[in-house]
Amino acid sequence: MEELLIGSHVSFKKDTQLLGSAQEAVLYGANTFMFYTGAPQNTARSKIDDHLTAEAYTFMNTHGINPQDVVVHAPYIINLANNANPSNRRFAIEFLGQEIDRCEQLGIPRLILHPGSAVKLTKEEGIQNIIDGLNTVISPEQAVIVCLETMAGKGTEIGNLDDLATILKAVKYPEHVMVCLDTCHLHDAGYDLTAFDDFLAEFDQKIGLDKIACVHINDSKNERGSHKDRHENFGLGYLGFDTLINIVTHPVLKGLPKILETPYVSKDEQSKERVYPPYRHEITMIKSKQFDPALLSHIRQDYK
Ligand code: FE
Ligand code: FE
Ligand code: ZN
Repeated sequence: MEELLIGSHVSFKKDTQLLGSAQEAVLYGANTFMFYTGAPQNTARSKIDDHLTAEAYTFMNTHGINPQDVVVHAPYIINLANNANPSNRRFAIEFLGQEIDRCEQLGIPRLILHPGSAVKLTKEEGIQNIIDGLNTVISPEQAVIVCLETMAGKGTEIGNLDDLATILKAVKYPEHVMVCLDTCHLHDAGYDLTAFDDFLAEFDQKIGLDKIACVHINDSKNERGSHKDRHENFGLGYLGFDTLINIVTHPVLKGLPKILETPYVSKDEQSKERVYPPYRHEITMIKSKQFDPALLSHIRQDYK
């Protein structure tokens, strides 16, 4: 049986870059990982250091990680849907182009992107801006695939299956655009993931199963259709362990990187500050396919 490709979001620090990210992933027992090339919420980025990248490749090689399975997430303030402010628009397009270049330099083939929010525009205008933005930024010779993420539909967010289908049909270089499923976002958008085969059938009919490039594995703190986008630890939310395990191990998604973006755990039940990464325990639990209802206290014990 082919090994499950499972990992999590990890940090990317200025002085250790890809090497530090890979080391963090290995600490969690992961065989893939996802990172932002700087802080997720801003666009300050330092130059990629090729020596660190080379060291990272050696490290990954000896720890069973294929760089081709690693993914980058673009910062979520990039909004291709809105062109109300021309200088913001120019910046978003330019930054996305640089992000693609960074992925090329790092040898990472998948770049995850939130499609964007229409804000004061109509949804149709927002979608057209996303298509135009992608057409401006993607060049036919690039190796990087831009993966549009399925979104929860919070506010004016674009990113349900119909939106993504429209975008994928209209882009100039469709071979460079794919989809990243996010289980929390899909559930919050209203899709019933307990009937996952039905969901896949709908996805296939609207977009095509061969367009799935990556899967974000998160439980949800809210009921289906809430449009909230608040992630919960694996098995502890409204999706639950069985639904998520079925997705993680589903044969249709075999060979695709599964990335946890579940929240850090607080020191104790009272405190609000989230300090402990849950990923080592979650990955162990997923591999064993055995639900641990005391997951959070086991994580806390681990860091004491
Ligand atoms: Fe995302
Ligand atoms: Fe996600
Ligand atoms: Zn989210």
